[in-house]
Amino acid sequence: MRSRSLKRVWRRTPGGRTVIHYRRSKVGVAVCGVCGSRLGGVSTSSEVLRKVAKSSKRPERLFGGVLCPSCLSLALKLSVRSS
Ligand SMILES: [Zn+2]
Repeated sequence: MRSRSLKRVWRRTPGGRTVIHYRRSKVGVAVCGVCGSRLGGVSTSSEVLRKVAKSSKRPERLFGGVLCPSCLSLALKLSVRSS
């Protein structure tokens, strides 16, 4: 599969040729966009991400799957104060 979404790995064959192997990149762990802590309730299994509805892949709330709960509450308090 020659797709740009796949990672390219150069491998030398026993015959001395250099060939490109294509590897599917793994899904990383979701982290908070502000503090960088790991987020809960966000699936990393590629099978789940493909088969299941979006609502069951991450928390169904504001910034679900983007911010951790403590950073979200802080952001909401700051937004209330500024308006
Ligand atoms: Zn955070």
